[in-house]
Amino acid sequence: SYFEELGLAEPILRALNSKGYSEPTPIQRKAIPSLLEGRDLLGIAQTGTGKTAAFSLPSLHRLASETTGRHPAGCRMLVLSPTRELAAQIAENMRHYARFLDLSVQCVFGGVPVGKQAKKLVPGCDVLVATPGRLLDLIDQRALTLRHVEIFVLDEADQMMDLGFIKPLTRIANLLPKERQSLFFSATMPKAIADLGKRFINNPVRVEI
Ligand code: AMP
Repeated sequence: SYFEELGLAEPILRALNSKGYSEPTPIQRKAIPSLLEGRDLLGIAQTGTGKTAAFSLPSLHRLASETTGRHPAGCRMLVLSPTRELAAQIAENMRHYARFLDLSVQCVFGGVPVGKQAKKLVPGCDVLVATPGRLLDLIDQRALTLRHVEIFVLDEADQMMDLGFIKPLTRIANLLPKERQSLFFSATMPKAIADLGKRFINNPVRVEI
């Protein structure tokens, strides 16, 4: 398939096969090669375009090809999502794409007891999908550290702003390692969102769908 031509690892191609994906969507075709090279990305795209796979597939490829391993209470990839529904959906998709890889995917969000989530994070994970408020709660409880994040994804930035997540996002940004890959997605890109993006991403490839 054309996914092979994009250079994705065989276990990922197998997972795509089992999902019945034969061809990449436009955003996947445009984003995956640069993301595999480790570039930052500014993506202007809505849900339904295949955005989740566009950021997940190359990230899983990179995590699987590097042997840094898991750290206690740490994660190697952090995906921030504005709502628990979206976070759960992203985590479910990522687990599916990672099913033939030795990578763990965890998901944390508000509205459920924090203790159980803190316990899940003890051994550390490869991918953590989270909503901003709960993420900070877990950091404040010392159940989570962002010191080992290699890849950072901010999804639905415009919704994040509408929901008043600017302050938590700024705090989270300050806790991330300077050296990392960052991906920033928004359905719209008014100036306030573009300015927010500048705080997270560095010399990005711009993909608009
Ligand atoms: P998303 O925009 O990431 O929420 O994806 C929208 C829907 O398209 C999801 O149900 C995905 O499972 C599906 N999808 C993503 N990429 C592909 C693809 N290359 N071929 C077929 N379906 C896809």
